[in-house]
Amino acid sequence: MSKIAMITGITGQDGGYLAKLLLEKDYKVIGLYRRGATDTFSKLKEHGIFDKVELMDFDLLELSNICRLIKRYQPDEFYNLAAQSYVAASWSEPIYTAQADAIGVAYILEAIREFSPKTKFYQASTSEMFGLVQEVPQRENTPFYPRSPYGCAKLYAHWLTTNYRESFGLFACSGILFNHESPMRGKEFVTRKITDYFAQLSVGLTDKPLELGNLDAKRDWGYAGDYVEAMWLMLQQEKADTYVISTGETHPIRDFVTLSGKYAGFDIEWHGEGINEKGIDRKTGKTIVVVNPKFFRPAEVESLIGDSSKAHKILGWKRKVSYEGLCKMMVEKDIERYRKIS
Ligand code: NAP
Ligand code: GDP
Repeated sequence: MSKIAMITGITGQDGGYLAKLLLEKDYKVIGLYRRGATDTFSKLKEHGIFDKVELMDFDLLELSNICRLIKRYQPDEFYNLAAQSYVAASWSEPIYTAQADAIGVAYILEAIREFSPKTKFYQASTSEMFGLVQEVPQRENTPFYPRSPYGCAKLYAHWLTTNYRESFGLFACSGILFNHESPMRGKEFVTRKITDYFAQLSVGLTDKPLELGNLDAKRDWGYAGDYVEAMWLMLQQEKADTYVISTGETHPIRDFVTLSGKYAGFDIEWHGEGINEKGIDRKTGKTIVVVNPKFFRPAEVESLIGDSSKAHKILGWKRKVSYEGLCKMMVEKDIERYRKIS
């Protein structure tokens, strides 16, 4: 009989990749989504799995519905990927972020504890919890110092996952995933904002410069398709645990812009400093990127780089897609999408 996996956040970036992976492994996948947006299932459709996933209504804030779902299906594995996941929005919606990203996880853990204690649980923790980093590179036992309401809420959920493992013996794992991107990444995140812009520029859909915030921030970017495999591997081990998933490389935002530009056929050189910095195309002399302080954050996570030695050793996990490969894949996919509609 197929195993049953329940995935919250099925409409998001990771939800689609994980569902695809689990379907390939012959799981019955129950995707939990919240009603609302008009193109809710566009990513599942693009993955070609929309009709293969059983979809159920769900909201992180609705305890009664979470209890009913877990009681009814008693899933073998439960992946909690749903969250208010955008750091910048967590300053304008700090209370909602705490309710969804912290208390919502308490609801799920309580429902599992009460109605399905054999269910293996995965919590989507994040490198944002390291924030003002206390050690370089960051690993499982690096002290946390979150820098946003998002990081604070996720930290509560992270420790609660550990606590329910230790208090009640639940098989509860936490993946501290560093930033991971793909052509399915939301356009509010910086990588996709950049690749989407270059795609529009290259097919002639815009002639305005791209406005970005802090170009000096550095991130350890991996490919979402590789990272969902690590989630699955965590739940296949004898013992539940916490793992850092990262590439061990870090790059400034500016570099991702230059590289995306290259794959879209632009040759960017940088002039000026701070808020006056500009990215100019060498071939045409046109200004392609400007800094707009409106995108600066009240507190910044300046630099992240992870050490995934534990995951390599215990899970046997390794990324397959390089930084360059990821950027190229995102630019090419965005260009292909715009070519289809223009
Ligand atoms: P994403 O694309 O933003 O997806 C988030 C999902 O959560 C969406 O399906 C969204 O539904 C759902 N959601 C939001 N609020 C909800 C609520 N109140 N009730 C039910 N569903 C709700 O995020 P992602 O990139 O796939 O990331 C997956 C998880 O990993 C998130 O928890 C994120 O915080 C965490 N994480 C991500 C990264 C990364 O770099 N991607 C790194 C570390 C950790 P709608 O479609 O209705 O909005
Ligand atoms: P995060 O690491 O989860 O916050 O992922 P983001 O992709 O939203 O942001 C990554 C980094 O890019 C942060 O340090 C941001 O300050 C920086 N950044 C610079 N300009 C922008 C922008 O226009 N949008 C976003 N989202 N981030 C930007």
